[in-house]
Amino acid sequence: MNIVVCIKQVPGTTEVKIDPETNTLIRQGIENIINPFDTYAIEEAVRLKEKHGGKVTVLTMGPPQADAALKEAVSVGADEVILLSDRAFAGADTWATANTLAKAIQKIGAFDLIITGRQTIDGDTGQVGPEMSEMLNIPFIAYVSQIEEIKEGYLRVSRMIEEGHEVLETTLPAIITVAKEINIPRLPSLRGMMKSKSAAVTTWSIKELGVNDKEVGLAGSSTQVVKIFFPQRVSQAEVLTGEPAEQVEKLIGKLKEAKLI
Ligand SMILES: Cc1cc2nc3c(=O)[nH]c(=O)nc-3n(C[C@H](O)[C@H](O)[C@H](O)COP(=O)(O)OP(=O)(O)OC[C@H]3O[C@@H](n4cnc5c(N)ncnc54)[C@H](O)[C@@H]3O)c2cc1C
Repeated sequence: MNIVVCIKQVPGTTEVKIDPETNTLIRQGIENIINPFDTYAIEEAVRLKEKHGGKVTVLTMGPPQADAALKEAVSVGADEVILLSDRAFAGADTWATANTLAKAIQKIGAFDLIITGRQTIDGDTGQVGPEMSEMLNIPFIAYVSQIEEIKEGYLRVSRMIEEGHEVLETTLPAIITVAKEINIPRLPSLRGMMKSKSAAVTTWSIKELGVNDKEVGLAGSSTQVVKIFFPQRVSQAEVLTGEPAEQVEKLIGKLKEAKLI
């Protein structure tokens, strides 16, 4: 069972600040972590490998320091780790991100299953997994909470829906995104930590990936961030005075004035 897991390194806080000039996150001084949903994806892949054999390849697109996330993946059981890093990848929207990851997966070659998190805690779109399935032309199942059966060319999963659970079957290769209900990620073992220290991180730039700089990063993005801002909440209150009956009368008058009644 050859499994590819896509992980993203994200700021380990929701208190991020935005540069008003560039409309991008200010990342200085912020600790980076593996997107929490992706830790479930790694764990599930490692469990499947332990049960069925095969290999777990973990892939990320990000700046050079994203290799720390990949080394962490090695400490919990990943066999091979690949960093897609190039200035040309910067400014990618979800389409360009999915396109770059899909190209890397095609370069990796034969795989049975791709696992991603259900969404990230920074971009939060949940688009990258489904977009990759379109690009690779393989089936996609979201919010998987249990892998019920997996064997060559066949997968049966239980996935979360609003009303409960749904059991789906598909052929392999396929892509799934996992919900946190699927497992409890393990902590790195001492042996795992030692292994991660000397782990080799394979790095692919646009050259190794064999892609054109027009199809990745900002140039390959069909959307652009025009403005980014935190919503300003303005609350205005007025205290109505007088006897209760008088207050009710004033309130009704104001509601009528505002055409609310
Ligand atoms: C116009 C535009 C410009 C942007 N410019 C920048 C920028 O300059 N710098 C910047 O950092 N971000 C930028 N972003 C954000 C960037 O597009 C997203 O970080 C990226 O596309 C992933 O989207 P998401 O975080 O919503 O992931 P989701 O779709 O929510 O992620 C789902 C899953 O896909 C996988 N995944 C997501 N991203 C990656 C990745 N990079 N590598 C491997 N696996 C991944 C993970 O398993 C994740 O759990 C920009 C976005 C837009 C729309």
